[in-house]
Amino acid sequence: MTEYVKKLLIFGPPGAGKGTQASRVTQDLGIPHIDTGSMIRENIARKTPLGLEAQSYVEKGELSPSEMVIRMISDRLKWDDAVNGWLLDGFPRSIEQAEALSVMGPDGGEVVERVLFIEVPEELLVQRLTSRRICGSCGAVYNLITLKPSKEGICDKCDGELIQRADDNEESVRNRFRVYRESTAPIADYYEGRGLIVSVDGQGGVEEVNERILAACIKA
Ligand code: AMP
Repeated sequence: MTEYVKKLLIFGPPGAGKGTQASRVTQDLGIPHIDTGSMIRENIARKTPLGLEAQSYVEKGELSPSEMVIRMISDRLKWDDAVNGWLLDGFPRSIEQAEALSVMGPDGGEVVERVLFIEVPEELLVQRLTSRRICGSCGAVYNLITLKPSKEGICDKCDGELIQRADDNEESVRNRFRVYRESTAPIADYYEGRGLIVSVDGQGGVEEVNERILAACIKA
């Protein structure tokens, strides 16, 4: 039987399908998908002390204080559902956070077993995101190249008007890609140095990429 490593990090540029792939692989491996952004938003909605502390940062689109996010993750990894593994998404966002993970093991050592980097060429991302359209009424997602609506500009599901997200224009997309690359580069170097990085080709269909991710998680 194939054995998998199950203590995973996932990174991917905007539009690479990271969210879809993260939920697929966590189902395949039976591990929780721990997404720090969602956890923080949930805390804000429930008005927990953590949520109240994070709110102003999230509203400004800034990173929340590392110490708080590290504490949140350290607690979350102790839940019963996380004993066999987990996939962290949105964490670490800095070397400080990566270093905190590197001593969270039971013996005070590294907990991360593999770091998945989904790679998609910038040109393909620009094409994918600039051709994306969203229904203004029901939120259904279309693509002018790969998933066209049957009537131009009209949602198949609810007849709503299809619109383009404000940040799905070429300039914003290139800028989001640059910000992603610059912010993840030091983290990629950190894990490269520890021999934990696996690069996964994010081009192609959902199934194809899912298979590559699973193959990247096979125990050495
Ligand atoms: P996201 O959904 O990943 O874009 O995260 C939304 C917000 O949550 C960010 O703007 C940050 O304020 C906060 N956040 C999520 N993950 C982290 C992290 N690892 N470190 C600091 N702040 C984070």
